[in-house]
Amino acid sequence: MYQAAAQRYDTMPYRRCGRSGLMLPAISLGLWHNFGDNRPYDNSRAMILHAFDHGITHFDLANNYGPKPGAAEETFGRVLAQDLRAYRDELIISTKAGWRMWDGPYGEWGSRKYLVASLDQSLKRMGLDYVDIYYSHRPDPDTPLEETMGALDAIVRQGKALYVGISSYSAEETAAAARILKELGTPCLIHQPSFSMFDRWIEGGLTGVLKEQGIGSIAFCPLAQGLLTSRYLDGVPADSRAGSADNPFLTAEKVDARIAQVRALNAIAAQRGQTLAQMALAWALQTVTSVIIGASRVSQIEENLGAVRKLEFSADELARIEEILAS
Ligand code: NDP
Repeated sequence: MYQAAAQRYDTMPYRRCGRSGLMLPAISLGLWHNFGDNRPYDNSRAMILHAFDHGITHFDLANNYGPKPGAAEETFGRVLAQDLRAYRDELIISTKAGWRMWDGPYGEWGSRKYLVASLDQSLKRMGLDYVDIYYSHRPDPDTPLEETMGALDAIVRQGKALYVGISSYSAEETAAAARILKELGTPCLIHQPSFSMFDRWIEGGLTGVLKEQGIGSIAFCPLAQGLLTSRYLDGVPADSRAGSADNPFLTAEKVDARIAQVRALNAIAAQRGQTLAQMALAWALQTVTSVIIGASRVSQIEENLGAVRKLEFSADELARIEEILAS
């Protein structure tokens, strides 16, 4: 029988999410990769429990995480039922809808029809009465924003989600969404953008909107899918994300294009007494409320948790990092 570690709250910093009452762990765990049907359940379970035992209270999911789509929610539901049921009130569980989930015109984008039906399916897969955060996973250029935000508001009023968020909305779309949600009386809790040393689009306006509106932020792919770690320093391992044939998002060519910068950043991390993964997470945490890490094994989570031991940077370190990123 699983018993959560007594020391689980001793080292993780918790940070306020925008101007809300909700605190998020500096490091959250995402279930996009490595929690589907194609991975051993025992490894997925071990990662979730290791995370929770070390203060990671927030688990990020989406309807389509797998493979197959939905499988990550089923895996998480199984761990909840088997191990974490007694700890439900210590968990922040999020899910999303927006990308293609089922056939036909109601299985993707931002209609009320899709968002409501998809959440009902997610709750069933996870064995939950409600999620803590429900997201519109991507902006929909063809559905009125009022409808998508209205669906999020209705879902909160129905008790199926406690808070709502948006993912990958531009600065302008975010400002408009925040205004509508405020009028409806369900404030936008959080924005989930991609953000890392190698992906800084949010600095061009979004961060300003979030600050102004009191919306928190949580970065996805803070390690650039593993590029900002020691994973590729000596080539592309066969069992890595870039080494797998079916992953278009990170390829050996993309690794090649960045490896000189990765090696230079790795040297700075070593001088700071950190690993590159730890430095990359600390760097992102200067800008966002929390970072959502992915992992394929417990040892990666263990290493990444160490980021919180050194979050501050000297002006000189920041300048050297900028120089490398500009090179
Ligand atoms: P990361 O950038 O954290 O990449 C995670 C991968 O990096 C791991 O799977 C592993 O790759 C490698 N890695 C992690 N830590 C280490 C380490 N210490 N040493 C060596 N390698 C390491 O994030 P993800 O791309 O996984 O995304 C994180 C989460 O963000 C997702 O699970 C999801 O919840 C969310 N997300 C949201 C999106 C959205 O549209 N809102 C889009 C994408 C993600 P390997 O498998 O090679 O071991």
